[in-house]
Amino acid sequence: MNFNDRKVLVTGGSRGIGKAVSLAFARAGARVAIIYRENREAAESTLSLLPGSGHLAIAADVADAAAVEACVKEALDGLGGIDILVNNAGIGIYHRIAEVSYRDWQEAWRRTLDANLLGPANLCFCVARHMIPNGGGRIVNVTSRGAFRGEPLKPAYGASKAALNSLSQSLAVALAPHDIFVGAVAPGFVNTELTADRLNSPEGEEIRAQSPFQRVAEPEEVAHAVLFLASEGAEFSTGTIIDVNGASYLRT
Ligand code: NAP
Repeated sequence: MNFNDRKVLVTGGSRGIGKAVSLAFARAGARVAIIYRENREAAESTLSLLPGSGHLAIAADVADAAAVEACVKEALDGLGGIDILVNNAGIGIYHRIAEVSYRDWQEAWRRTLDANLLGPANLCFCVARHMIPNGGGRIVNVTSRGAFRGEPLKPAYGASKAALNSLSQSLAVALAPHDIFVGAVAPGFVNTELTADRLNSPEGEEIRAQSPFQRVAEPEEVAHAVLFLASEGAEFSTGTIIDVNGASYLRT
């Protein structure tokens, strides 16, 4: 896939899936703006690995609406535009309903929805309002298998990702007249720092056995689906949700 001279904004682009997405776009010729929250060292390390020039890393909390507006402006200035937005940053907080306090329950819901749903919604707004008068673009949202299968240990996470799927489909219709194509990628377990503790625990074997391949996805496999949705020729796939879960959960 060729992304020569494309300008790409990747939230959470410093680590895990976002790092693989940033690397894949840069290898395909794009210029990338990485948004990260606080781990500057990881962001600078990823930035140093990107082939080509003109990439940048911007610290911003996507859960903060003002920070979203400011980081989109900084990316627009730094890249000279944005052709592709990848909403990848996300968090998962355990809040077992039978165990947590009411206060912790509310806190988990608030923090999860702020980062995983309101953040991407605000990024879509700010970036789409740039794309509309500038010939269109692509938006790819990273959701989760948990949107379909449920997330009993972190229900706010599953709900946030189901809502992000719905947002992707709503915007695919709303933005089609503006030549903006919107899709989602829904990974199952992926080998990243987010899942390292569980994958390295005794539970790891059970998690790997969820797929007939007896393994979880590598971040590069998720990046491949993201780049497909952003590529030339994928326009008519707008509104789709691509599963990257190794047949561990087959939805109808
Ligand atoms: P990760 O390894 O934990 O990396 C998270 C990235 O997002 C980091 O760059 C982090 O920046 C950034 N980030 C987190 N919260 C942020 C915020 N509020 N504002 C800005 N940046 C923020 O995560 P991952 O495993 O690659 O997951 C990436 C996405 O895939 C998430 O949306 C996740 O829900 C989804 N997903 C993951 C899996 C999986 O098994 N790993 C499965 C399904 C879906 P800092 O390092 O600076 O904090």
